[in-house]
Amino acid sequence: MTTARVHGSSDTRGPVLTDRAALDRAAKLAAETFAARADDYDRRAAFPAEDFDDLFAAGLLAAAVPRAYGGLGFGPQQRNTLPLWEMTTTLAAADLSLARCWEGHANALVLIDALGTPEQRRRWFTGVVERGEKWVAWSGEPRAPKPGESNRFGTTVVPVDGGWTLRGTKAFATGATGAEWAILLVDPAGPGGARHARPGRDGRAAGSGLLLLACELSDPTVTVDDSWWDPVGMRATASHLVRFEDTFVPRDNLIGAPGSYFTGHWQTAFVPHYAASFLGAAQAACAYGLEYLRKQDKGADPYVRQRAGSMAVNVDTARLWLRHVAALWDGGSVAEAGLAGSKARHVVEHLAEETVHHCIRACGARSLVRPSPVERILRDLTFYQRHDNDDHILATIGRAVLGEDHDPSFHTP
Ligand SMILES: Cc1cc2nc3c(=O)[nH]c(=O)nc-3n(C[C@H](O)[C@H](O)[C@H](O)COP(=O)(O)OP(=O)(O)OC[C@H]3O[C@@H](n4cnc5c(N)ncnc54)[C@H](O)[C@@H]3O)c2cc1C
Repeated sequence: MTTARVHGSSDTRGPVLTDRAALDRAAKLAAETFAARADDYDRRAAFPAEDFDDLFAAGLLAAAVPRAYGGLGFGPQQRNTLPLWEMTTTLAAADLSLARCWEGHANALVLIDALGTPEQRRRWFTGVVERGEKWVAWSGEPRAPKPGESNRFGTTVVPVDGGWTLRGTKAFATGATGAEWAILLVDPAGPGGARHARPGRDGRAAGSGLLLLACELSDPTVTVDDSWWDPVGMRATASHLVRFEDTFVPRDNLIGAPGSYFTGHWQTAFVPHYAASFLGAAQAACAYGLEYLRKQDKGADPYVRQRAGSMAVNVDTARLWLRHVAALWDGGSVAEAGLAGSKARHVVEHLAEETVHHCIRACGARSLVRPSPVERILRDLTFYQRHDNDDHILATIGRAVLGEDHDPSFHTP
């Protein structure tokens, strides 16, 4: 059990907060406040700003900031991974969109912790701990246009005196209307970000020149186009289209050496974090389903019993997988943790999806009528699962066990 000082809006020297106390505080906020707000954020496709204000006031916003900088010291870089993922699961059980925004924030802080200079850590962690600044990480430059799409997404990066300028667009920019800072994953070799990186023209490996640039989003050359984002689910992530019009990023804002996101396989630390959110969806559907079935006194039905049992086993199984992967990270078995993270991501996606369907089949149509949260959970989970392609994840696992080259970061075909 580790402890940290309570930070938040006013007192940075408050009493120490244990991991358990922090998780209990997050659980209370999620159950009593965030779950009730989720429907309104979803209908308005609005960033969950008040939830983040509450996380800050409760001393939880800096969970992934090291204790030495006033945070809670959660996350893989601090070898204290499970509390971070448990917190994400708790938030996801209240609102999957909130959890996605939270993941983006926490993942960005993990990257700063791992790759930033001491001066960068001091500067940016202070902003989180003392001013409640929110971070995001944006790669989002899918290259193949869909039917009816005329413009391609993507950024062009040009080295200039003292830094770089950026021009172009990123899609799926989670938290675009809520965050103060973004880590932009951009490549001077051409558009594509990290996920859609291509080999350099000079034959260099894909992503070998990828830059992580910290960009202040109040810069007037950065604009949000909110007309693009009208999805089936995850609406409150506000994952808008963002435009950069010759945005200058100073050299001081480069995080890590070019290409270090790929050479350090950092995406593998974040792949199971998605699974932590999926587990939250399963947990919420299971809890709602069991309450519904008890209220309707349907427990005597043998099929209902089967589905209730399956939901419970699924939730426990997903939890065990995340515990296993977190222990690998914290024990320093990084390569093993990377592949285990993909396995967990694959298994938990299916367990969560199945759990939501068990809930719907056992409860019936009214479980999909608002204000039932299952209606939103179904839409959110359907969309969020597309963040990676499960066929490719499984093929990656297959390649690994066959002893072939594989990419546990982006599961490229
Ligand atoms: C809710 C949500 C929030 C997100 N937030 C963020 C964020 O904050 N930051 C961020 O950087 N990204 C974010 N993403 C974006 C995500 O990382 C992907 O970039 C995005 O989902 C890609 O969109 P796509 O699936 O339409 O496109 P594509 O990338 O074109 O994928 C479509 C399908 O084609 C497959 N595919 C891709 N390339 C190939 C190929 N060469 N050969 C064969 N098949 C291929 C893919 O696996 C997938 O199944 C978010 C996504 C979602 C759903």
